Amino acid sequence: MAQDPVCNMNVDESRAGATSIYKGETYYFCSANCKENFEKEPEKYVKETGGHEHSHH
Ligand SMILES: [Zn+2]
Repeated sequence: MAQDPVCNMNVDESRAGATSIYKGETYYFCSANCKENFEKEPEKYVKETGGHEHSHH
């Protein structure tokens, strides 16, 4: 199960309404509408999770 980064809904990869590849990662969306919002401002929705590499503050 993937998570729609726009509305935070759980999305089944095989039933996703839309997908987008951003920085080599595939994102799954419940609908094309969420994908559009994501593509307008992907950085707003993509959160750096895990602390690999970017650990300076
Ligand atoms: Zn959505």
